[in-house]
Amino acid sequence: MKQWKKLTRDPRSLERYRESLTAHDKPIHSFLEIDPVLGSSLSASDKSGPLAGIPFSIKDNIALEGFSYTCGSKILEPLRAPYSATAVKRLLDAGAVPAGKTNLDEFGMGSSTEQSAYGTTRNPWSLEMVPGGSSGGSAASVAAGLVPFSLGSDTGGSVRQPAAFCGIYGFKPTYGRVSRYGLAAYASSLETIGILSADLNLLRRVFSQIQGPDVHDQTTRSSTPLTGNSDVPTVAVLSRVEGLSDEVQWGYDQTLEAISRAGWNIRKFDLASLEYAVSAYYTIAMAEASSNLARYTGIRYGLRSEHAASQEEMVRRTRDEGFGQEVKLRILLGTYVLRSGFQEQYYVKAQKIRTLIKQELQGIFNGSDVIMMPVFPVQAFKIGSSGLSSMQQKVADRYTLLANLAGCCAVSFPCGVASGLPVGMQLLAPGMADELLLDRLEELMRYLPGVTLPKPTLAEVIHD
Ligand code: GLN
Repeated sequence: MKQWKKLTRDPRSLERYRESLTAHDKPIHSFLEIDPVLGSSLSASDKSGPLAGIPFSIKDNIALEGFSYTCGSKILEPLRAPYSATAVKRLLDAGAVPAGKTNLDEFGMGSSTEQSAYGTTRNPWSLEMVPGGSSGGSAASVAAGLVPFSLGSDTGGSVRQPAAFCGIYGFKPTYGRVSRYGLAAYASSLETIGILSADLNLLRRVFSQIQGPDVHDQTTRSSTPLTGNSDVPTVAVLSRVEGLSDEVQWGYDQTLEAISRAGWNIRKFDLASLEYAVSAYYTIAMAEASSNLARYTGIRYGLRSEHAASQEEMVRRTRDEGFGQEVKLRILLGTYVLRSGFQEQYYVKAQKIRTLIKQELQGIFNGSDVIMMPVFPVQAFKIGSSGLSSMQQKVADRYTLLANLAGCCAVSFPCGVASGLPVGMQLLAPGMADELLLDRLEELMRYLPGVTLPKPTLAEVIHD
């Protein structure tokens, strides 16, 4: 892989990069907006910073001042972000150069990017396939070689799953390690900004820039890096994994073999609460979504319906015209589980399951350093009705959403290519063990073949 280096200030080379970016993105549609004047961000960036001149893309539910902030929804189409998210600001301070905003499932609700109001993104490995979601645009922009890294968000797997579908790394840090200021809220207690890249070393450098406490997000904590239990790590694996496609099962077995070759100890575990994880996650996520999305009324920002006789009708029409089907469904179900008199039945029960999952995972981490698991039971699936239904996609989130319910850190990695498409697995580690998790992954990757991206990167264009 050609190493990405700096964008230079030479206007001709910037223009060449922008043109190539636009042309190469056409069949893929990973970007919703490309910076028309890449050079202006570059001139403003710190040329001596640790990420000086390195371009990146940003999921369009993370704010970049002056740019679109659609969250994949019609309801925010007219909005330009009035400020930049803390994570973005820290990257700008480090000299990185934003190339533009990427496509996503509306408000992060989905696993395929088909729920975007702006059309589906295609997987660079095969244009008939989804890139995964909800950070599908981010994953595709990296896998197509358009940018070396991207910021996404992970509420139940939205960084790790598209990374797995596109053959790159996807890192969901511990809840509270990266500020959520400037990330449009979907389910605040579950989500975090994450990083997608084909280069693990770069991903680590980006993480070290964006992590850390932020006065704008009271859930951020300073880190007390955790160290390992022993020199030879112990990895916990489920005693039974069922329902994987042949290809994903192959990737799982490959990873187990790599773990053995690395000489790590393997410990088996059962996770009784896994059976209830999907129900608990969707109950909590929808409840939080119904409350977070109540702010989109057409009054303060975004779309405003023009055909209304009263304020109440205006709000109703704006929400009806602005939100897509999946978002409406989740707002309705979220309101349903929260309505008075019924909270015990759904919401409180889901919170109890969440506590059980946390405790079970904590118990496993007491005797092991990391957990290895599949990311998704299948590889990238077909776009449209021959792919997975929305219900099948939700059930398939069961392995990724555990880390969000527990608040721990997790990273997905490419473990090989089968039937022409990449396969990804994930490692999970306890909260605040982010650096250790990435150390372990780096070690493990020495025993896996790695994956070559389907297209050459635009790094060439930058350097010529
Ligand atoms: N697929 C999950 C959902 O639809 C996860 C999405 C995400 O992490 N943003 O909620």
